[in-house]
Amino acid sequence: MSNKIIVIGAGATGSFITHDLASRGFDVTVIEKGNIIGGTSGRFHGMLHSGARYAMNDVKAAQESILDNKVISDIASFCIENTGGLFVALNDEDLSFQGKFENGCKQSNIPIESISIETALKDEPFLNSSVKAVYRVPDKVINSFRFITSLLLTAKRESAKIMLNTEVIDFIKEGNDIKGVKVKNNNTGETSELKADLVVNASGAWASKLIDEKLGIKSIEMILSAGTMAVINRRFTKHIINRLREPSDGDIVVPFFNDSIIGTTAFIVDDPDKFDVDKEDIGFLQKAGSEMLPILANYPVSRYYAGVRPLIAAGENDDSRKASRDFKIFDHSVTDNMGGIISIVGGKLSTSRIMAKDIGDFIGDKLGNKTESNTDKIKLYWPRVNSQNIGEMAKSLSLDKGFLYEMLNESTGKTYSDMYSNAIDLLYSRELFN
Ligand SMILES: Cc1cc2nc3c(=O)[nH]c(=O)nc-3n(C[C@H](O)[C@H](O)[C@H](O)COP(=O)(O)OP(=O)(O)OC[C@H]3O[C@@H](n4cnc5c(N)ncnc54)[C@H](O)[C@@H]3O)c2cc1C
Repeated sequence: MSNKIIVIGAGATGSFITHDLASRGFDVTVIEKGNIIGGTSGRFHGMLHSGARYAMNDVKAAQESILDNKVISDIASFCIENTGGLFVALNDEDLSFQGKFENGCKQSNIPIESISIETALKDEPFLNSSVKAVYRVPDKVINSFRFITSLLLTAKRESAKIMLNTEVIDFIKEGNDIKGVKVKNNNTGETSELKADLVVNASGAWASKLIDEKLGIKSIEMILSAGTMAVINRRFTKHIINRLREPSDGDIVVPFFNDSIIGTTAFIVDDPDKFDVDKEDIGFLQKAGSEMLPILANYPVSRYYAGVRPLIAAGENDDSRKASRDFKIFDHSVTDNMGGIISIVGGKLSTSRIMAKDIGDFIGDKLGNKTESNTDKIKLYWPRVNSQNIGEMAKSLSLDKGFLYEMLNESTGKTYSDMYSNAIDLLYSRELFN
């Protein structure tokens, strides 16, 4: 009999874990309190990182990024736009990072190419014409809505159970062991209990709060680092444009469908559900983005959104820019004398496949059920929906038929935040422009 596993959270991490475990033959159920991409996986830049952004200071995250950049492009090509990325130096200070950047990329096996200013400006006519150095890197754009939907559909075909709009409100505890979860259907208010051999806490920015409040487990120390992104309703580049310097505020412009997403900021929040965006950050982002692409200053910011990075805290260091983008698995039987539950924290959407593989290996060892992960070879399922099969598919995913239709037929003018999360539409907000 296969082990029964419950995964909490269907962001990129939980969805990939669900697919990984289901493909190994585990009996897995994923429980998500909201809808698809309701968490950070729907409030990010949209980059499938090459790793170059982290190559200077965070080699492991950089190496994992380039590895998964190749794998995810192969298994989920329908959600990737291979834009490529440019790193641009605009002044002498930026130029001083050249050596560190080149070495870091070499050490992380990230293929980069130094290109002439002339070629760069021909390729990207809106680039600041006083640019001093340009590198091309294999950054890509990823549509996380498609990515996560396809992970869940693939897992579903591998016999996983998917419960959306269902919240884990408590745990079933027997002595020092977790035996399952108590859930509430957020549509109907109905509550029920689900038993499992192991519970995997993959609830992103909510991970430490959930198990601290319900179980008194305090071993997961996280930095909840929020970041705001400003969106301009025009696309000006083929490539993702990055500033050549250590990761800092306002140093990325991502062409997403027909929009330009300018990111980002980093500020610490206490609660991923309750925080305010500083409106001045919107003007700051536009100004910082327009240093790389001056034309951005001529267009209004149409909306903004913010997400919370679930980062691992490291010692006394609470500078979230310096915190690693690496991930960590917590076995609570070791850290907190509480069996039947493990947590995974940190990482990036771009490294979700490696995170899932590592925790899948860990679970196999723990449950004495060793299996190999093949998720680097399994092409994710992206169905052609028609009027005949849409009803059945929606039912199997517990999704509204109209919603499923909309998500599988996403139109190019929309971004995640526009359609699916609480983005604030600035066109109708006078306060910023008066
Ligand atoms: C500003 C910003 C920009 C970023 N840009 C990039 C980028 O360009 N590329 C990249 O690769 N990464 C990027 N990241 C990082 C990336 O977005 C995150 O690392 C990733 O999305 C985290 O995925 P996750 O599944 O761990 O968390 P989430 O996507 O937040 O998923 C956790 C899920 O758990 C659910 N949940 C919580 N509590 C419960 C409960 N009690 N019961 C049931 N469900 C629950 C939540 O609803 C949520 O859907 C960015 C992050 C930020 C903040």
